[in-house]
Amino acid sequence: MSSTKTTIEWTDKTWNPTTGCTKVSPGCKFCYAEGITRRFKQAFPSGFDFAIHRERLDQPKKWKRQSKIFVNSMSDVFHEDMPYEFLAEIFDVIIKCPQHIFQILTKRSAKLSELASALPWPDNLWVGVSVESQKQVFRVDDLRRVPARVRFLSCEPLLGPLELDLTGIHWVITGGESGASARPIDPEWVRSIRDQCVEQGVAFFHKQWGGRSPKANGRLLDGRLWSEFPVVEQPV
Ligand code: SF4
Repeated sequence: MSSTKTTIEWTDKTWNPTTGCTKVSPGCKFCYAEGITRRFKQAFPSGFDFAIHRERLDQPKKWKRQSKIFVNSMSDVFHEDMPYEFLAEIFDVIIKCPQHIFQILTKRSAKLSELASALPWPDNLWVGVSVESQKQVFRVDDLRRVPARVRFLSCEPLLGPLELDLTGIHWVITGGESGASARPIDPEWVRSIRDQCVEQGVAFFHKQWGGRSPKANGRLLDGRLWSEFPVVEQPV
């Protein structure tokens, strides 16, 4: 489970140089990563505690096939316990693998914003924040301060309606929660976000409705798939 193909629709592979995390907001309540560490105890001897896996650092260098790689699907790159030196090494691997696109998604937008000027932002790195309800919209302002080529929002699990200023944002993903205790999603919340994306010229991707399992209720919105990706201009 250190690196794997994934069923997450907006990426190709995951790469987990760290695992484990700490809950920070309502979207974390039924954390998918925590559930995995509980189910596969042998693969995660340190459970859901934050752990560094230095031996995984160079994995993307060995992956020849061009891929979109979700960094730390089992953790948070900007976790409080992440040493800056190791974070810098992760970014260095990203720079050394221009054949791949790396996708970093965090709920720790304050730390992301704080470190934005110190870290390099190569063209093959997309960075996003989770926004599960209106209370977390402040993370979008933090994200706007990051000079990444692609800035995106993951509104999953979507827990309420959102009013979004999408200035400087290139991509929005929506999704409902999944699992035995999944909190319900209102299709009107998703329609509203889609409409805001269309109006503001931002790529929109509806990942899933959720339910008992991620795929239980499919991902059609009003009879069609929304699977847009950000349009990335090639450097001149
Ligand atoms: S930030 Fe992400 S990985 Fe960490 S507890 Fe919350 S949902 Fe889980």
